[in-house]
Amino acid sequence: TLRAGVLAVQGDVSEHAAAIERAAAAHDETAEVVEIREAGLVPDCDVLLMPGGESTTISRHIHRIGLDEEIQTHVAAGKPVLATCAGLIVAASDAHDDRVDTLNLVDVTVERNAFGRQKDSFEAALDVSGLDEPFPAVFIRAPLIDYVGDDVEVLATWDDQAVAVRDGPVVGTSFHPELTADSRLHDLVFFEA
Ligand code: GLN
Repeated sequence: TLRAGVLAVQGDVSEHAAAIERAAAAHDETAEVVEIREAGLVPDCDVLLMPGGESTTISRHIHRIGLDEEIQTHVAAGKPVLATCAGLIVAASDAHDDRVDTLNLVDVTVERNAFGRQKDSFEAALDVSGLDEPFPAVFIRAPLIDYVGDDVEVLATWDDQAVAVRDGPVVGTSFHPELTADSRLHDLVFFEA
């Protein structure tokens, strides 16, 4: 059984929980979902999911509860993380916004709500490195990745911009793989690493 911590201070928590359970089932595995709202739970988790939502709120609570160092320790130990949309914003090295105290888990910087500015949300079929067929990516007020560090692998682009990245054990997406029935991305991060 994979112990999967879902950061649950705010955002689309249940969707991530469902996606990791589906991905586990596809591998004849089970996932035990632990909703993280307090300190002390992260150290027992094998993997972490950082959902989309409102990054200013998520960031504030992470620091208030004291989860920042626990999450950073998890990553330093090489344990997998999937951070989506607001989760990626919080995981980045900078978000150009004083209200988001980023955790520096992925060497990218982001500009909030800046991707596909003309449309608040859209769906696109993305080629993702490691997946055979295009992935249906849902973008909702998505962050624009405006700097990618040298050691960061770009897993997918849209409109010539990086929209999925890997930095060691951490995969970040500016879209929402948890909002479709397709759990191949969770699969890729947690079961095929
Ligand atoms: N716009 C949000 C933020 O900056 C992120 C959007 C999302 O997670 N769908 O927090």
